[in-house]
Amino acid sequence: MKLPFSESYKIKMVEPLYRSTYREREQWIRDARYNLFNLRSNQVFIDLLTDSGTGAMSDRQWAALMLGDESYAGSSSYYKLKDAIREITGFPYFLPTHQGRAAENVLFSAMIKEGDMVPGNSHFDTTKGHIEYRRAKAIDCTIDEAFDTTLNHPFKGNVDLKKLEKVLKENARDKIPMIIVTITCNSSGGQPVSMKNLRDVRKMADKYEIPVMFDSARFAENAYFIKTREKGFADISIREIVLQMFKNADVMTMSSKKDAIVNMGGFIAMNNKELFDRASIFNILFEGFISYGGMSGRDMNALAQGLYEGTEFDYLETRINQVAYLGKRLKDHGVPVQYPFGGHAIFVDAKRFLPQIPREEFIAQTLAIELYLEGGVRGVEIGTLLADRDPETGENRYPELEMLRLTIPRRVYTRDHMDYVAAALNNVFDRRQDIHKGLKIVKEAPILRHFTVELERD
Ligand SMILES: *Cc1c(COP(=O)(O)O)cnc(C)c1O
Repeated sequence: MKLPFSESYKIKMVEPLYRSTYREREQWIRDARYNLFNLRSNQVFIDLLTDSGTGAMSDRQWAALMLGDESYAGSSSYYKLKDAIREITGFPYFLPTHQGRAAENVLFSAMIKEGDMVPGNSHFDTTKGHIEYRRAKAIDCTIDEAFDTTLNHPFKGNVDLKKLEKVLKENARDKIPMIIVTITCNSSGGQPVSMKNLRDVRKMADKYEIPVMFDSARFAENAYFIKTREKGFADISIREIVLQMFKNADVMTMSSKKDAIVNMGGFIAMNNKELFDRASIFNILFEGFISYGGMSGRDMNALAQGLYEGTEFDYLETRINQVAYLGKRLKDHGVPVQYPFGGHAIFVDAKRFLPQIPREEFIAQTLAIELYLEGGVRGVEIGTLLADRDPETGENRYPELEMLRLTIPRRVYTRDHMDYVAAALNNVFDRRQDIHKGLKIVKEAPILRHFTVELERD
């Protein structure tokens, strides 16, 4: 008998979970104004809100914490992290930051000015937020295939080179400070970018003399997909693929809370000493001195170790398989899920799940609330709430996709948990025709509103 697939780690420490009742959840979600970010964690049974900072560190990472060097300047932990970043990404210069958006804040302060255009593949919400905050514009150049959730395309994160070239041609060189490629592309569904596409973007950027930045939160998952889906990479190691990927970028920002499997942290890494010097000023201003930038020595140690573990093939295979397992359980029941499955999450196509709810009533948020009520499972809306209003017109932006994202934390939940989540959502699917009402906004912030929005259901 062929041996079945099995996880590449075992459990050493556990954390109890509280299983609530339907009645309790009805009360709690009303008190939370139908915003899942307002729930207390003990009101959630299985938390698939995000894979950001929610992973389980390994015994080696916990051991590395004890060896942290808390010196203000020149700490050995800083040099350990510098070596790990250089070995894994190839970038010789780096700046630590407290998380990914802080890296964006520091780098964009040095590179982006009012009136600029920043083309890329479905910019992440904080990335877009930091661009728009500077009165610059993020231009989405993702391939059209990404917006058809039923289409089977191996690299739905790819940049459409025609769309990109149009932006580069039509705007002055000094209006385009960088091209941003997000690997994997979170906003379009955790979808990877192929090595060929990364190389083609590089070539085009060179032609127009524009720097390329990789928003790299899930770079290791991207490398796994290149290895398993792109011709010519099956026999190349994850580490080698990662190095080849980053050869096509000038600078990267990292949310270490994702593929580096730590609970907090980030960094910027780059080739260029002049950019490093310029960004260092903002790092010191916003984050801290360049040898710690918002991180303690112990956290830099755990991060260095996490970068090595996060780029091991066995770990990545376990992770991607777990995500795909949940996706398959839902797909087999008929639930409309994005295909192929993403690296860190399953995206449920809420428009196809609840076609009777008008888009003005926040379709994906409505579905997220139903799933919470059903089983205490917390997912997250990736749709109209997240898309914010257009800063110029003040109108809601209706994205092509209304998704409920079920994000899987790294090394945290078991296969039984995945079965539970699938059963809960499949139950909602079976009673979907009884869901007639969506939600209305009562209160919202002008930017990144989904975190604090208050809603009502009448
Ligand atoms: C999470 C994330 C960020 C922001 O990082 P934080 O650590 O949450 O500040 C930026 N880009 C992408 C693609 C992300 O997934």
